Amino acid sequence: ATPTALLVGTGRGAQLGILIKGPEVLESTKRVDTVLLDKTGTVTAGKMALVDVLPADGQDRSELLRLVGALEAASEHPIARAIAAEASRTGTPAPVTGFANAEGLGVTGTVHGREVVVGRLRLLRERGLDVPREVEQAASAAEAAGRTAVLAGWDGRARGVLTVADTVKPTSRAAVTGLRALGLTPVLLTGDNATVAAAVAAEVGIDQVIAEVLPADKAEVVKRLQAEGKTVAMVGDGVNDAAALAQADLGLAMGTGTDVAIEASDLTLVRGDLTAAVDAIRLARRTLRIIK
Ligand code: ADP
Ligand code: MG
Repeated sequence: ATPTALLVGTGRGAQLGILIKGPEVLESTKRVDTVLLDKTGTVTAGKMALVDVLPADGQDRSELLRLVGALEAASEHPIARAIAAEASRTGTPAPVTGFANAEGLGVTGTVHGREVVVGRLRLLRERGLDVPREVEQAASAAEAAGRTAVLAGWDGRARGVLTVADTVKPTSRAAVTGLRALGLTPVLLTGDNATVAAAVAAEVGIDQVIAEVLPADKAEVVKRLQAEGKTVAMVGDGVNDAAALAQADLGLAMGTGTDVAIEASDLTLVRGDLTAAVDAIRLARRTLRIIK
């Protein structure tokens, strides 16, 4: 391949809204057979909305929203943004001390002298909180409906569930169809729970799902597929995707995502539209065919 012809390919990429780190990237793009797609912010808009606040028996709804909202005001996660925005409508958030992010699980911190734990069921259990059956059932019901359940607790037990919903980007389904048409296997990869992941996968036409993967383990999933002989592309947007994007044979970042993800990637899809990933792979194949 002559450098000039490769550069023509990258110029066309820019027109399509694809930024390519260097012409050498086209070669690995061409060989890809498996495409891992992060869920939140990649397949979905990542713009969560708070749907329900479900206090446990005897728990005050507004106190639940206030305490969780205060904690989430300190987090950048899309789930946190949705909850904090809603909570802030009822007043200024209370100050938080000792805020900590339990990566891929939730957040913790002290609000009004209470040690509050917010996030997945697993996190509450890990922190020794008792989770009443009714709370667990409320969470499962929300998940079965394709929503993410955010559990909250303090003083020894879970105090309620907040449910949030995300929406699939309008172009995601077409992008999945396009990937298949190129002979590629799309796989949904997410830290979210398996039920929500399956609902999103069905909506866009993906039949392989790897869910409940902690951020640190996303890169391990890539390695495992590579060990099976796959050439893996990973598409992601978050800080939690960066290691997997770097490990993949081809990393594609959403231009609407975090700088960390963009820096770890070979390609950036400027408009954050998944159909550009299909364009990128098609472009790489065509460009390299012309050269040879
Ligand atoms: P994804 O891989 O879909 O981008 P993450 O790895 O960022 O998701 O998060 C995985 C899960 O951890 C979320 O679906 C949520 O249940 C929980 N979680 C993470 N951060 C928070 C937070 N700030 N508040 C509540 N829940 C959270
Ligand atoms: Mg994401």
